Amino acid sequence: DIALDRAKSTRSARPIWFDQGMERALIAHSEIEQGIRHGLEHGQFIPYFEAQVDLLTGNIVGFEVLARWDHPLSGPIEPSRFIPIAEEHGLIGRLSEQVILNALAQAVAWDPSIKISVNISPTQLTDSWLAQRIVRLLAETGFPAERLVVEITESSLFADLDLARTIVTSLKNQGIRLALDDFGTGFSSLAHLRALPFDVIKIDRSFVATLATDPESAAIVRAVATLAEALKVPVTVEGIEDATTHAAVAGFGCSVGQGWYFGKPISGDQVTAMLRSRHVAPSAHKLSAHTA
Ligand code: C2E
Ligand code: MG
Ligand code: MG
Ligand code: MG
Repeated sequence: DIALDRAKSTRSARPIWFDQGMERALIAHSEIEQGIRHGLEHGQFIPYFEAQVDLLTGNIVGFEVLARWDHPLSGPIEPSRFIPIAEEHGLIGRLSEQVILNALAQAVAWDPSIKISVNISPTQLTDSWLAQRIVRLLAETGFPAERLVVEITESSLFADLDLARTIVTSLKNQGIRLALDDFGTGFSSLAHLRALPFDVIKIDRSFVATLATDPESAAIVRAVATLAEALKVPVTVEGIEDATTHAAVAGFGCSVGQGWYFGKPISGDQVTAMLRSRHVAPSAHKLSAHTA
C-alpha cells in the first residue's frame, strides 16, 4: 500500500526533536484553543474579584478583576492556562470584553467609592480601537469612567510605545485611570514611568513574597515606595500574604494592598453578599484579615 508506505516514511523522516510529549502538548494546545472559542460563545469567561485595601484604615477601596474560565467540566480555570493561548490566537480581545462587561455590570451596583481595576494584555495594546472598545463597555453598563482603572504591564509597552501612548491618552481623556502592573519585572521600568502618565504603580508580587525573609527584596520595595512618593504616584502592593508583610509595606508608605492576607479572589455574587453584610456606609467596608 503506497499511501501507508508514504505515511511510514514521513513518520520516520520526522525530526527527532518532535517527540511524543510535544505532540501531546500540541494537541492539548489546539483543544484549549477550540475550547476557548466554544467558551466565548457560551459566556464561560467570568470575572473574579480580589479586594484592594487601604493599608492604613483597612477599608476596601476597590477590586481587581481576574479572569476565570468557568468550564462546565473542570470548574474555574486559572488565567495562566488560557490567557497565553487566547493571546496567541487573537482571542484575548473578545475574552477581555466578556470578562470586563460582566464585571462592570455587577460592580455598577456596588458602593460608589469602589474602584474596579482590569488587566490588559500586551497584545491588546496594539489594538488602536482598544480605548473605544472600553468606552463602549462603560456606556453599555453605565459604570463611571472615573472608577475604572486599566492595569497594563511593563512588557505591554515594548511593542509600539507610540501606539501605546495614543491609546493611553484616549483612556485618560475619558477619565479612566492607569496603573503600571508588575512594576520592576520589565526592562527600563524607570523610563516607562516617565514615558506614560500612570496614576498608580503596582509593585510585583515577586518582590513582596520574599520581603520578610530577604533584605534585598525589602530594600527594593522600600526604594520603589520612596520613588513613587517623590513622583506623587500612589503604590499598590500585590501578593500580601501575612501580617508581617502588611506591616512592612504600610511602614514603607505604600497606600493600597491586595493579597491572600486580605482575601482570595471571589465571585461577583460573593462580593455583593460581603459588601451587604458590612452595612451600607463606605467606611464600613472594612476587611478584617483574620476572618479572610
Ligand atoms: P496580575 O495582574 O499580576 O494578577 C495578580 C495575580 O496574583 C492573580 O493571579 C492573583 O490571583 C494572584 N495573587 C493575588 N494575591 C496573591 C497572593 O497573596 N499570593 C499569591 N500567591 N498570589 C496572589 P491570576 O488570577 O492567576 O492572574 C494571573 C495573571 O493573569 C494576572 O496577573 C494578569 O496579568 C493576568 N490576567 C488575569 N485576568 C486577566 C484578564 O481578564 N485579562 C488579561 N488580559 N489578563 C488577565
Ligand atoms: Mg493586574
Ligand atoms: Mg500584577
Ligand atoms: Mg504580578
